[in-house]
Amino acid sequence: MTERYDDQNIFAKILRGEIPSKTVLETEHSLAFHDISEQAPVHVLVIPKGRYISYDHFALSASEAEIVDYTRAIGEVCKMMGVQPGEGGGFRMISNAGEAGIQEVPHLHVHILGGRRLGRMLPRAD
Ligand code: 5GP
Repeated sequence: MTERYDDQNIFAKILRGEIPSKTVLETEHSLAFHDISEQAPVHVLVIPKGRYISYDHFALSASEAEIVDYTRAIGEVCKMMGVQPGEGGGFRMISNAGEAGIQEVPHLHVHILGGRRLGRMLPRAD
């Protein structure tokens, strides 16, 4: 991990309560809230409370308790939002990282998208 965590990023501010968000779920180590600019009927962001920049950073550095909590929170959000495969129609989970991934907010987040058919996985590069 060469990048340094920026405490002024927008999700750090949400975690500190400096910016409001529409909470879906809060657990000991994780927070889920609606994306401000929804791209599908269901568009929820799930973040760890710890200072992790991207998924690889989290996967290599987080404690087992944080990893279990975060993974379970993602499963719980899918259940709560009714997008589980089968009757819920399924979902797509995306975690953009760094420049190639076009990550806008440098605090780990996964997007949970669902509620409609989502189209092909990758558009052409801009
Ligand atoms: P990224 O491109 O980093 O994967 O996604 C960042 C996401 O954060 C975008 O989908 C954007 O709409 C969302 N976002 C940016 N600022 C805010 C905010 O202040 N509140 C919420 N709820 N979402 C935000």
